[in-house]
Amino acid sequence: MSRTYNIAVVGASGAVGEELFRVLEDVAFPIETILPLASAKSAGDAIECQGKTYIIKELTEDVFEGQNIDIAFFSAGGSISAKFAQYAVESGAVVIDNTSHFRMDEKVPLVVPEVNPEDIELWEDTGIIANPNCSTIQMVQLLKPLHDLYGIKRVDVSTYQAVSGAGKQGMEELVLQMQSFFEFKLDQAKVEAFAHQIALNVIPHIDVPLENGYTKEEMKMVNETAKIMGTDFALSATCVRVPVLRSHSESITITFEEGVDVNVDKAREVLGDFENVTVVDDMSKNEYPMPITATDTDETYVGRIRKDLFANNIIHLWGVADQVRVGAATNAVRIAQKWIKLEENA
Ligand code: NAP
Repeated sequence: MSRTYNIAVVGASGAVGEELFRVLEDVAFPIETILPLASAKSAGDAIECQGKTYIIKELTEDVFEGQNIDIAFFSAGGSISAKFAQYAVESGAVVIDNTSHFRMDEKVPLVVPEVNPEDIELWEDTGIIANPNCSTIQMVQLLKPLHDLYGIKRVDVSTYQAVSGAGKQGMEELVLQMQSFFEFKLDQAKVEAFAHQIALNVIPHIDVPLENGYTKEEMKMVNETAKIMGTDFALSATCVRVPVLRSHSESITITFEEGVDVNVDKAREVLGDFENVTVVDDMSKNEYPMPITATDTDETYVGRIRKDLFANNIIHLWGVADQVRVGAATNAVRIAQKWIKLEENA
């Protein structure tokens, strides 16, 4: 990489924003300067990246003007992207958006760099590249090599999603409820971030309920998978919040085309060969991925790979990834790295 880039981070004080600075540092991203942005509440706070300190500014309509921002990462919620992404684009930046706002817009590429990097080229239509939902990203990284191997007919997935998927407020709520539990006051603890108490509980409900009986989170997995992979196989998701601080797990059942006779060793091999996927799969040694395996890493882990007992064309597996990194910050930075390559070769 021959030059350095001016970066803006909208949502700089949030769970994803803070992780983004760590990822940019980890990959030695070629940064000239950073413009960290958040609400008035965090304006004036400091962030550190690559040995430099930057002060958070309040996001306003004209904050991008004259800043020569090349890449603007947005992670401050859908309504903020809806209102402010256009100002970043008008100022000349490419927007890499972590929210759900632009994901299903036909003109906006929705990218997981290991799966559909070629779609980044479409960024010029709108100036925006969308980052998929965290549960979708880690799932399609496992589906892609298996689809290329056998052809997928149907996917059934149940998620076990960490509270940090609901941002800092989600993490705080689990911690405070656990504290209340140890003080014998759990019945008095606040329940705000989730529909029910999350401590010592499991909640089969993420995002808003829809008329078809699914939730918005579940439909994101259905619709985004089809857009990213360019496929139309059937998919059903059940999204569940669990009292884990960080990293989402997924139990995935994949039905391949009729006539396929799954070879588990071959499936394990193609998964292990796929970029940024690590197989951890040895039950004789109690080895399988867990949230504590994935947290603070950039890999998507897969284990418990096994053939169905009743059908030759069905496989079951268990995937885990750090959803704040793989499912948000790292995916966004990987998009930015590929975008830079495109620009430098243009
Ligand atoms: P978060 O921890 O709640 O952080 C929200 C960020 O948005 C904060 O920096 C906040 O600034 C900023 N913000 C809120 N209102 C604002 C306003 N009016 N103007 C400017 N900035 C404002 O949430 P998060 O988990 O980082 O999630 C952020 C986005 O990323 C969401 O759209 C979420 O769906 C998406 N996402 C999250 C994850 C995850 O695992 N957490 C994964 C993938 C995608 P203040 O601190 O100043 O209020």
